[in-house]
Amino acid sequence: MSDSITRYDLPQSEIPHHWYNIQADLPRPLPPVLHPGTHQPVGPDDLSPLFPMALIMQEVSQERYIDIPEEVREIYKLWRPTPLLRARRLEKALDTPAHIYYKYEGVSPSGSHKLNTATPQAYYNKQEGITGLTTETGAGQWGTALSQACNFFDMECFVYMVKISYNQKPYRRAIMQTFGASVTPSPSDTTQAGRAILEKDPDSTGSLGIAISEAVEVAATSGGKYKYALGSVLNHVLTHQTVIGQECLKQMELADEYPDVVIGPTGGGSNFAGISLPFLHENLRNGKKTRLLGVEPAACPSLTRGKYAYDFGDTAGMTPLVKMYTLGHDYVPPPLHAGGLRYHGMASIICEMYDQGLMEAAAIPQMETFSAALAFARAEGIVPAPEAAHGIAGAIREALAAKEAGEKRVILFNLCGHGHFDMSAYDAYLGNELSDYEYPQEAIDAAMANLPQI
Ligand SMILES: *Cc1c(COP(=O)(O)O)cnc(C)c1O
Repeated sequence: MSDSITRYDLPQSEIPHHWYNIQADLPRPLPPVLHPGTHQPVGPDDLSPLFPMALIMQEVSQERYIDIPEEVREIYKLWRPTPLLRARRLEKALDTPAHIYYKYEGVSPSGSHKLNTATPQAYYNKQEGITGLTTETGAGQWGTALSQACNFFDMECFVYMVKISYNQKPYRRAIMQTFGASVTPSPSDTTQAGRAILEKDPDSTGSLGIAISEAVEVAATSGGKYKYALGSVLNHVLTHQTVIGQECLKQMELADEYPDVVIGPTGGGSNFAGISLPFLHENLRNGKKTRLLGVEPAACPSLTRGKYAYDFGDTAGMTPLVKMYTLGHDYVPPPLHAGGLRYHGMASIICEMYDQGLMEAAAIPQMETFSAALAFARAEGIVPAPEAAHGIAGAIREALAAKEAGEKRVILFNLCGHGHFDMSAYDAYLGNELSDYEYPQEAIDAAMANLPQI
């Protein structure tokens, strides 16, 4: 009978008590983050206008485990532990001998994994007397999560939302406003960074890089009242997401299997890190040999086609310089219905994993991604976020390869969010309005010429 189980749940007592910090186990340490003016390694004081000291210390911590505050665990109980499911109906549809498991983070109140880090970020800021947070959002998942977290801790929330998403996703904006956030379409005339962009291009539809510049500026010039929160990329964000993989380790044990490959979509790298880092720990410390596969859109191929070099995190060049696989900070997002994956760079931790040969990466085109999303939705009954569909497409490729090879492969992927606010993208796909888009080599070459000289 155990053979027919499709869902593995853990009791709330199994919500992890700590986050796992990969910095304790990386064979080679992360490259230093550099000051944009002096090109010297940044210290805690350089970052303190933007982040609370507790998060800055987590950013550079070499401790393997970081305690999760009890107040944060209490809020995690609203949706954690999240379920692990075996995609038996998808296996059947693909006629594959592979066993496919997925961790479902779409059960969180914000509909994605982002609340896992928004909650502790708001908590630590509140602890240090900060009254409000500024941030950017692209597709809206991060802004939604942060506005919920700020609401939990009775803080203000200022969201700069990429203008094209602001116009295309009025319900995302309304959710953030429901939780009390103030939402501004970016580029806006409320900041110097926004005004500079609008002067050059009054019709700019915005980008994550521009919105980051605006949110950073507002926090940095608030006289210490507000700080800035980032939903991906930074070490502490990836660390917070490791609750996902820690739960998976226990749930795979319940299923009496162990993954041969762990897969997740990669935008800034946080949900992929969340599911894969605890398995990387097993690889590095306990002799396991799980393959880790990050899947990015062919339209934004930072890992597979970007250059590993120091670059700015934003468009205006206000952030510290981070060594990362980058398409260039002046990257202009192409028309692509996976807003959360349109970032020019990638988390430092993921870049080092890739560079050190600890993970693999694949770039998958938009049409294959939506086709995978539909196959998954029709088999499993969940409409995935277009970002999450990249992980599904990767898992389907693996399952078909297993079939080809005639081997039973155990595949685990992160279904990091549902797509209920992305139905216009599905509408476009079903109406045959979407096509593939390969990011042009000339655009990459041109952007590489604009990288800061280190
Ligand atoms: C934000 C988001 C992403 C991309 O960010 P990562 O840091 O790479 O996880 C992917 N999927 C969903 C559902 C998101 O909300």
